Amino acid sequence: MRIAAGLIVAGAVSLWASGAAWSQASAAKGAAAAPAAKGAAAVPTAAAAPQAAPAPAPIPAAVQQPVRPPCTNPNALGVARTVEIDTTGGPGFGFEHFKQLDFLRDKEVVLTFDDGPWPVNTPSVLKTLAEECTTGIFFSIGKHATYYPEILKQVYAAGHTVGTHTWSHAALTNKKLTEQQRKDEIEKGLSAVKWALGGISPAPFFRFPALQHPPEMVTYLGERNIAMFSCDLDSFDFKASKPQQVIDVTMKKLDKLGKGIILMHDFHKHTAEALPALLRKLKEGGYKVVAMRAKAPVKTLPQYDEELVKDAKLPTISSRPVSSVVQTISE
Ligand SMILES: [Zn+2]
Repeated sequence: MRIAAGLIVAGAVSLWASGAAWSQASAAKGAAAAPAAKGAAAVPTAAAAPQAAPAPAPIPAAVQQPVRPPCTNPNALGVARTVEIDTTGGPGFGFEHFKQLDFLRDKEVVLTFDDGPWPVNTPSVLKTLAEECTTGIFFSIGKHATYYPEILKQVYAAGHTVGTHTWSHAALTNKKLTEQQRKDEIEKGLSAVKWALGGISPAPFFRFPALQHPPEMVTYLGERNIAMFSCDLDSFDFKASKPQQVIDVTMKKLDKLGKGIILMHDFHKHTAEALPALLRKLKEGGYKVVAMRAKAPVKTLPQYDEELVKDAKLPTISSRPVSSVVQTISE
């Protein structure tokens, strides 16, 4: 039943090479042979055979992303399957607001993390995901990306999907904002994340702050071919007073729904602290993680890219790594 639903929405969600150590690069080569993915524990049961779906146009080179390292944890949660999203027309995901695209099968979850990058907590989330050989979508705030570009680069380098979450986390339903200011929030957020990634465009995946969806901005994102992400279940981690609460709220809601896109915050300490135990619970409960990737990166608008670079508070863009700029010559 779920597979049929998946086929119906194939215009927006296509399934391709599954496996624990998926690789955009492998998929781009279109090899019929399975990628050399040997990650334990996440080998899917149904999708081992080559997909019957006709191969679409090759994936643009720009989508290629670093491959997650091979999994060394035989009991890891892993990644059960990877879906590729065609964001043309701005599809919406997450049943709290968008009810058209029911692509998750029973017991499947998508992990999403908002409001980063942030010191300590985002690296902690990355470490936990690496230990469990799994992945998520990071909806980064533009300003935070400019504060901590090196942390966002780590998110990307680890093979996770990077989306955006406005420039300053302004509520776009705020009547005091003009339509232009709302668009600026969206566009500057995209350009800031691109800047932080050293010029690599993020996925056209966007989440509205506080899940507030002004209709005219939903339309605008559709015109910009940017997918919108609400959620199926909110962990309410920002309200939690201790990590256990994050786990309890999430598992209770998930056990009721049976699947879903989970909203969390890598920005929050309790979430980072709760994540190791939460991922264990998911594994014990038979839940499987689905990775969501974009078919093509977002197209940022040049004027916002230029504005970011001109901003006096930002350092000059340099693609050179720290090690080539700063060297310890005595200590
Ligand atoms: Zn947020």
